[in-house]
Amino acid sequence: MSQLEASATKEQHSKILDNKVAVVTGSTSGIGLGIARRLAANGCHIVLNGLADTAEVERVKTELAESSQRTIVYHGADMTKPQEIAELVEFAVNELGSVDILVNNAGIQHTASVEDFPVEKWDAVLAINLSSAFHTMRAALPHMKRNGFGRIVNIASVHGLVASAQKAAYVAAKHGLIGLTKVAALENAETGITVNAVCPGWVRTPLVEKQITDLAQRKGVSQEIAAEELLSAKQPSKRFVEVDELGDTVVFLASKAASNITGSSITVDGGWTAQ
Ligand code: NAD
Repeated sequence: MSQLEASATKEQHSKILDNKVAVVTGSTSGIGLGIARRLAANGCHIVLNGLADTAEVERVKTELAESSQRTIVYHGADMTKPQEIAELVEFAVNELGSVDILVNNAGIQHTASVEDFPVEKWDAVLAINLSSAFHTMRAALPHMKRNGFGRIVNIASVHGLVASAQKAAYVAAKHGLIGLTKVAALENAETGITVNAVCPGWVRTPLVEKQITDLAQRKGVSQEIAAEELLSAKQPSKRFVEVDELGDTVVFLASKAASNITGSSITVDGGWTAQ
């Protein structure tokens, strides 16, 4: 074997995040699952989380374990419950030895004008999209500090930077999440821990499919025409962001190359916020 071939083979075997432990909240579907897939493909052991039935959890666990040859476990913490969130972090440490990478991704949406916004929906959106990230970070930071290494990535949104009508709770939570990201980044700037936010534009996941269906019904058009309309209104690239593109952004932020990037909000939005 030539030296070039030998180094290429070595390269294939040493993945950039080899044997790091990653906790990804809300990773049983959509963006979270895409992120878990890319982290596992790059060498991480994964703690999955999300609201899903046993059969679905088993299907996702098996798929990821087979494709990555890494350890994939699941904890069903409800992101509205601080005690269960603390248990999720303890579970990661007990089962896999540490939490090196924490991705706060779980999120829900509800659309209504401020005066019509149901109070329980406001509370749920704030709890899942904002407070859960405070609770996971509060529990994970002591472990990361002990190891002198940590990568926290908060999946915010373009709606953490700009607003849209009918999304009061979501926009407030995502703006809050970017503020929380900056504070945690500053508090840990000298510890080997980075804290960043990723701000996706439209991604075609179950969360957005519902908004496409609502628009299609309101306008009496097909699902595909409604999807095109949604894109043309806000996203200049006129194509949905792919979950793998977000997964690879998280892999980059978790890598050595990004060790001096902290407190940032990285947009992956096809130009949405450049307008
Ligand atoms: P999704 O509905 O496909 O996935 C949401 C995940 O969160 C699921 O795994 C679900 O089980 C989990 N979840 C919801 N409530 C939970 C709870 N109480 N406890 C634990 N898990 C819970 O949505 P998605 O589009 O993949 O969204 C993921 C993240 O990306 C969210 O934070 C969302 O705000 C953000 N985001 C999405 C888009 C988009 O266009 N889809 C754009 C910008 C940001």
